[in-house]
Amino acid sequence: MSPAAKPRKAKAPRNATAPRKPAASRATTISPQIPLAELHCHLGGSVTPAIMWGIAHAQGIRLPSKDYWAFRKMITAGSQRTRSFNGYLDLFHWTELIQSSPLAVERSVYEVVAGAYRKNHITTMELRFNPMKRNRNGEQDLDHIIAAAIRGADRAALEYPVKPGIILILDREFTLRQNEIIVEKAIDWASRGIVGIDIAGRESGSFKVAEYRRMFRAARKAGLGITVHTGESGPVSEMLEVVKQLEPDRIGHGIKAATDVKTMKELAARKIVLEICPTSNLMTQVVGDWEEFRQIFAQLRAHKVRYAIGTDGPEMLQTYIRDELAALGRHGILSVEEQQIAAATSIKASFVRDAASAAVPRSAGAAAKVSRDEG
Ligand SMILES: [Zn+2]
Repeated sequence: MSPAAKPRKAKAPRNATAPRKPAASRATTISPQIPLAELHCHLGGSVTPAIMWGIAHAQGIRLPSKDYWAFRKMITAGSQRTRSFNGYLDLFHWTELIQSSPLAVERSVYEVVAGAYRKNHITTMELRFNPMKRNRNGEQDLDHIIAAAIRGADRAALEYPVKPGIILILDREFTLRQNEIIVEKAIDWASRGIVGIDIAGRESGSFKVAEYRRMFRAARKAGLGITVHTGESGPVSEMLEVVKQLEPDRIGHGIKAATDVKTMKELAARKIVLEICPTSNLMTQVVGDWEEFRQIFAQLRAHKVRYAIGTDGPEMLQTYIRDELAALGRHGILSVEEQQIAAATSIKASFVRDAASAAVPRSAGAAAKVSRDEG
């Protein structure tokens, strides 16, 4: 082990008169040895572009460009085109199409879970996807798609000390019956690695929270965790409705809660955990800048709302979970202790049973830095 790889520890000064280290030189983020659970990660935004390129070719998909770099740009955020909520969701068109077969789903899940462990010491990877957006409009069987995802997760868990879990996503633009089928599938596969359900997608006039009450209750009864995308681009009023009608364990994003004391009180009382993904919110411009995040976290802190930090899609957004924590630390928004609490919360709030048993500190000799080049 090289001396450089040793973890930094705060040493006591040799004598009482020795000057204290200036604040700027102190660590502003948590040690890479601390294990993390990634709770908010969409399969369509999580596979390394080079691997997606390989999968696309293996599937024989006709891409709009034969140039890898153009492809990379097509499936990653950053350009003006993606700087809106709907513009960001448009990026998923190609990734979902490329992942639309059992083989493609299996490889994608395997690569994400294994890569997250190698690169970021993520010991619990919850990956979410909508199986109906990967079955070529019904040409392929949903059970085969779901079983393939579970196989990919199982393969990664055989190779690395990780505990993966799959969340099936319902879509706001789907019909009630389509979403009901997804919930039925989640219940059918609950004992095999599906750990929860979620609702995501574009804001839709036809979506009514109350209509989902019964099916979410059935999912909970079957042992599934409940998370819902709300309080992101939509109004904060919907959040309170989701909380009361669907009784989620966690909420995807939910940053709008910071504007409403009543909602924050309800979240704190019910111990609901927010899955906050800062870079995603900045990209879609639902949060204006880091200064706004400072205010959001100040409100959550004041009202004791629990949260974990996620990425939404590390490869699409070009950010890893440790980058998110480091940015919050660098901007002085979350202290190192608060980041540690968020890391511990991510493991505690995971839908994966005994996630804590995988969460052992990484040895100091293992990669102390985030590796970015490796698939
Ligand atoms: Zn999301």
